[in-house]
Amino acid sequence: MRMTAVVILAALILTTLGIIPAVEWQNVDCGIADTLAYPVDMERYQLVQGFSVPSPRHQGRYHTGEDYAIPGGASLGEPVRAIGRGVVTYSYTLGWGRDAGVVIVRHTLPDGVHILSQYGHITASDDVPFPLIGACVEQGDALGVIADVRPAPHVHLEIKLALPDAPGPGYSWTLPENDEPQWRMPSRLIEAYSN
Ligand SMILES: [Zn+2]
Repeated sequence: MRMTAVVILAALILTTLGIIPAVEWQNVDCGIADTLAYPVDMERYQLVQGFSVPSPRHQGRYHTGEDYAIPGGASLGEPVRAIGRGVVTYSYTLGWGRDAGVVIVRHTLPDGVHILSQYGHITASDDVPFPLIGACVEQGDALGVIADVRPAPHVHLEIKLALPDAPGPGYSWTLPENDEPQWRMPSRLIEAYSN
């Protein structure tokens, strides 16, 4: 047990020093995301919190993504799917602590623009393990399942241009699209690239 701890600590130190490379995604080419699609079936799910909407639960800060859920908590344990082809840049079941896990995928759109899709409030299940960083995913691949989170099970989808290696907090003091152009309205972007 103690030996295991020593090995993990040594690997962590060597990774930090750059002697063992951290998990790489930068040089992975997964191809073009020809189309985008919603991460859940929007015939069953509803938009329960919109983009750029101020949240009373978060001191009036603005929502940097869109939340989708089936009313009544029925989305608990349901799969959340990649919106398009891309490479996984972040994948951690405790990414948001008590608010559960986060996966981030980087996509190259047909016009060469790079975007990041961030899926929050998800967790791994027996059938759906979290993807590995550096793995290529296809549109529709399950990345995790919706976790039991506050105030009710939902997935937070965020489209952003910055922070590929870490999730943001989901809320911003300034209007996400107008003042901080690192975010995009998810549904608008998905519909612009859906065929
Ligand atoms: Zn949200």
